Amino acid sequence: MTFPERVPIRFNPASFAVLQRLEDDNNIPENQIAQARWIKLIQRRVPNQQAAFLILSLTNPSTANQIMKDGIAVEGLKLWCRKLMKEPWCCMKCHELGANHNAYNCPVEKETCGTCEEAHDAPMCTLSDCNSFFCVNCKVKGHASWTHTCPTMLKHVKSINTRELDNQYLYYLVEADPASRIMVDGTVDIDQSSYTTPSLPDHPQA
Ligand SMILES: [Zn+2]
Ligand SMILES: [Zn+2]
Ligand SMILES: [Zn+2]
Repeated sequence: MTFPERVPIRFNPASFAVLQRLEDDNNIPENQIAQARWIKLIQRRVPNQQAAFLILSLTNPSTANQIMKDGIAVEGLKLWCRKLMKEPWCCMKCHELGANHNAYNCPVEKETCGTCEEAHDAPMCTLSDCNSFFCVNCKVKGHASWTHTCPTMLKHVKSINTRELDNQYLYYLVEADPASRIMVDGTVDIDQSSYTTPSLPDHPQA
């Protein structure tokens, strides 16, 4: 699993022919792109959004590593790809981090805005000054619930990175590929005996 950033939304991930063309354009062996899907639901796009993050599922970890090193050509654009790390679970309705429910069985009655905590959908939010943002997890003003530097978010990320060994490596483990020993902190792991090929990340549908 790897994801190219800023893919033009005219790209159709549901089309088999489109995925075949993506393989051809990037010299990827046939049928190695098993699936492509947008990281976020189309209904959650903001008005006039031109590009979105895509998730590509590849059957071969070497190919995934290769396109993370070289980038991938999509719709005539060369795009960078990153490995899809396991992220802290967050309910997309109430924005509680580490929640043991999802948006469908969320106990909160109305949609909570992740930017200001009011009862409206985030794209409807009119706030633009981050000093007036409100984080539902820290219960403080000054940042939104989705901010990557949110202290509660950082705490959850740290805990999942400690638990999920795969999150500590920049690339997928391929014995013959020295790059798969590079850790996200830039160090190189000489002994990968404790690292086994990861299961697929359970990325929440945003
Ligand atoms: Zn919830
Ligand atoms: Zn709002
Ligand atoms: Zn926060």
